[in-house]
Amino acid sequence: MAGLSRSLDHVKDRYDVIVVGSGYGGGVAASRLARAGKRVAVLERGREVLTGQFPNRFPDLKNDFQVTGKRLRTGPTSALYDVRLGEDMHVLVGCGLGGGSLINAGVALRPDSRVFADEVWPGQIAQDGLLEEGFRRAARWLSPQSDPRAGTYTKYKALAAAGKGLGYEPIAPPVTVSFEASINAAGVAQPGCTRCGDCCGGCNVGAKTSVALTYLPDAVRHGAELFTHAGVRHLAKGKDGSWSVHVRRLDGNGAAPQDLTLSAPVVVLGAGTLGSTEILMRSREHGLALSDRLGHRFSANGDIIAFGYGAKFPIDAVGIGYPPKIEGMEIGAAVSGQIEIDDEADLSQELRVQEGVLPSALAPVLPVLFIPNGRLLGALQSLISGVYKGPFAKLQTFFAVSHDTAGGRIVLEDDQLSLVWPTAKDEPVYKRLDDILSSIVREAGGSYVKNPLAGTVMGHQPATAHPLGGAGIGRERGDGVVNHKGQVFDASAGRGASAVHEGLYVVDGAAMPRSLGVNPLLTITALAERAMLHMAQDYSLAFDDAAVGGAPIAPADLGSILTC
Ligand SMILES: Cc1cc2nc3c(=O)[nH]c(=O)nc-3n(C[C@H](O)[C@H](O)[C@H](O)COP(=O)(O)OP(=O)(O)OC[C@H]3O[C@@H](n4cnc5c(N)ncnc54)[C@H](O)[C@@H]3O)c2cc1C
Ligand code: SF4
Repeated sequence: MAGLSRSLDHVKDRYDVIVVGSGYGGGVAASRLARAGKRVAVLERGREVLTGQFPNRFPDLKNDFQVTGKRLRTGPTSALYDVRLGEDMHVLVGCGLGGGSLINAGVALRPDSRVFADEVWPGQIAQDGLLEEGFRRAARWLSPQSDPRAGTYTKYKALAAAGKGLGYEPIAPPVTVSFEASINAAGVAQPGCTRCGDCCGGCNVGAKTSVALTYLPDAVRHGAELFTHAGVRHLAKGKDGSWSVHVRRLDGNGAAPQDLTLSAPVVVLGAGTLGSTEILMRSREHGLALSDRLGHRFSANGDIIAFGYGAKFPIDAVGIGYPPKIEGMEIGAAVSGQIEIDDEADLSQELRVQEGVLPSALAPVLPVLFIPNGRLLGALQSLISGVYKGPFAKLQTFFAVSHDTAGGRIVLEDDQLSLVWPTAKDEPVYKRLDDILSSIVREAGGSYVKNPLAGTVMGHQPATAHPLGGAGIGRERGDGVVNHKGQVFDASAGRGASAVHEGLYVVDGAAMPRSLGVNPLLTITALAERAMLHMAQDYSLAFDDAAVGGAPIAPADLGSILTC
């Protein structure tokens, strides 16, 4: 099986555009700028994982965790799950060609219109019509859809039963999953979803419409070169106005790291909230004049993952994987049902509660995970009967999203990134989430387990998989790090407050200036599409987003695009 990426041995010194990171923001930029005829290189720190190669068993999954804390660093730099342990909050992000799309649940929701009415956004965002076009393009390429069979799954019925007692009826939210065999906009033939539940472990079927199956193959088809194991350290502006991109090779298998420097007149940062902010912070240490808002307005998007244990009825919310570990079960995608708690009067009170599924590779450790919480008996029963039949068949997993105050701050100290948010655990959103989730769990007859790892190094801090901000959009450098087009403000002495660094962009989660109140992938993608439309106007570029025709390519055979 061949993939889309190449070895850094083949990287050139200079490109028209260098895109850093390959998640939603980076993928959009790579595809659109390659379609515009630019010579594009994508630099991704993680590795490429093809469909069929995602970790399926716990021993494999174990090697796919990298954990970084103040005095701790374990796991390979190419591990898919990148966990940052913080003193105030923990953060989980994806690492690999395709970014967070490889391991997320794919819930694709548009924020309430009041989010964009907030004065934190520059007026152009709501007024110039391109955000609407960005959402249209994002939806065309990621093709979110609700599972027509959602209501038949045990986990959905359990949410419905618990929600009923509280007066809420679940809906099936749109997810970036192909429920029938289809050919996506990038010309990749996606098989229909097997409802195995393993979306957050990586889809081994090819049914999840990830960046790795859409924007990235499209970029390669239009000539972009994708490099993995390429960790960007910092950027510097040359005298001729072009950008030097300082890269650390991470493919050395433990050998002393090698550094290389590439250059391009345009650099687009899509390294995610933590990655792009870190690169800008390190660039500032090397002399790049940036807004002093850099690192500010970090939001966790009011997001938590929590559990209910000991429900009266089965939930069936542990994935079975592909090939299936057990016959005759249909779990559904990682998220099939959602309860929506709206508040016309106060946006900050709105909540989305989604029933979730734990990936099958985690199944063998579930009993161990729950032992510290004093549930030894149930855990032992599950060890004997297997997680699909014992008490873990009644384990509920929830993803919940709301709003917070974006009061966190990302800092770089001694070359290590950390998150400072001493009041995070007191954010009102967490009490609201605990109240509603414990009511839902109580209705199901179980007990609420906020964090089964609380007794370990995880402690009692909140954790998020939706980090946002750090290089937020603003009107000028006094209130943001980038403008509404994603261009980075230039804080050099003597330059106007809205002056920008020519050719430097941020188009990912880092640019979000506030919580979105819904899962962020669709908004990040839409804003990246919008930034590309502005770039096309500013640089007189022409590209469309028409679907690719011709013979479709199988997800596990993307490498054939390279030889087309
Ligand atoms: C388990 C899980 C479930 C989730 N479920 C959902 C969901 O259902 N719906 C939803 O909307 N969102 C979900 N999310 C969040 C969503 O996936 C992220 O918000 C989204 O991926 C962010 O997109 P991005 O473009 O900002 O960056 P990312 O997708 O994070 O991509 C950034 C990329 O840049 C790379 N990178 C970082 N630093 C460097 C560097 N220095 N040099 C080179 N490369 C670098 C990273 O390895 C990564 O591949 C989930 C996240 C997780 C972890
Ligand atoms: S449920 Fe299984 S087959 Fe369907 S998208 Fe998720 S991982 Fe892929």
